Amino acid sequence: MPDTINITTIIGARPQFIKAATVSRAIAGQAQTGQQATPIKETIIHTGQHFDANMSEVFFRELDIPKPDYNLGIGGGSHGRNTGRMIEAIEAVLVKEQPDWVLVYGDTDSTLAGALAAAKLHIPVAHVEAGLRSYNRIMPEEINRIVADQLSTLLFCPTRTAVANLEKEGFPHQLTARTRQAVVNVGDVMYDAALYYGGRAQGKSRIIQTRALTPKAFVLATIHRAENTDNPERLHNIMTALNQIAAEIPVVLPLHPRTKQKLVPADFPAVTFIDPLGYLDMVMLEKNAQVIVTDSGGVQKEAYFHGVPCVTVRDETEWVELVEVRVNALAGSKKDEIIQSYHSMKNKPVEAKLLYGNGDSASKIVSFLTESITV
Ligand code: UDP
Repeated sequence: MPDTINITTIIGARPQFIKAATVSRAIAGQAQTGQQATPIKETIIHTGQHFDANMSEVFFRELDIPKPDYNLGIGGGSHGRNTGRMIEAIEAVLVKEQPDWVLVYGDTDSTLAGALAAAKLHIPVAHVEAGLRSYNRIMPEEINRIVADQLSTLLFCPTRTAVANLEKEGFPHQLTARTRQAVVNVGDVMYDAALYYGGRAQGKSRIIQTRALTPKAFVLATIHRAENTDNPERLHNIMTALNQIAAEIPVVLPLHPRTKQKLVPADFPAVTFIDPLGYLDMVMLEKNAQVIVTDSGGVQKEAYFHGVPCVTVRDETEWVELVEVRVNALAGSKKDEIIQSYHSMKNKPVEAKLLYGNGDSASKIVSFLTESITV
């Protein structure tokens, strides 16, 4: 066992800040309580994929994420250009830091670049949110997660479905000198985040008051997936549906920068467009919404964590268990189907069934990273 375990965390996009916050907190917590026999040092690389203050800085501030040790400032380009530049810059940092583990999250270009740079340097990769599959390779996220899983030593799955997906692909369960890879179900770090920061949001966020919203009398919507924003017909249909729903009940939509480039808010005048929110305000809107309409991966689960029915405006989802227990309606992008799904979901009770672990995923991840170091 080394004197110190060095972990380099690579993040760059909004959902990764939220996921990484829980693990950083678990690392810091173990260090403070002295629970951790071998001290862990975390070095954070922020690739710069999301760079607006309300898509990045606010999360570091609100969620107490340590300031990144390296800020690569790579964002705003095409997938190929960004990924290539990230690999080069991350490689330079990893050569200098020589970590025991590289920790990557989710399915963005930062995940892919971090996993590739580390694997080529023979540094073991741990992938948080491994095993998710939409089985739709049109999605850039699907390509990123398939490659990241292939390159990872520890594949931290959030659900049983994710484990089963990886079993089908032949991944082993036991990490040995021969297998070099292991699939582990640790639960979902986003559930940890919802529990911990959800409590903090209750005390700190004033968004319900400042926006003069009535609890359970508004719909919260988010749209940002490339398959919707880059397809004018899909985007128009989804937005028209939201505009019609807004004739019945206020619809609040924090506008992602990618979506902002693709639509004219004045074309959908009944919808209340607002700037992207910090996590605490977002959680308060989620908790108080009547229904959430989204194409986000994280927001689908947060709807469930906070007991709110969800309509997903995609053709498939990685979070299939939510559709199976009927708290999430997969509505596609057709206007009438979205409106119908809204009506069928709006009075749906959502009971928590612990589909995503017990809220201790981050500390499980830290334990696995520590224990696996000797294999
Ligand atoms: N989120 C946020 N502010 C917003 C919109 C979303 O804090 O204005 C949070 C949301 O609560 C969730 C995460 O961002 O935790 C989801 O990120 P996103 O939808 O961008 O990505 P995905 O989950 O689809 O990968």
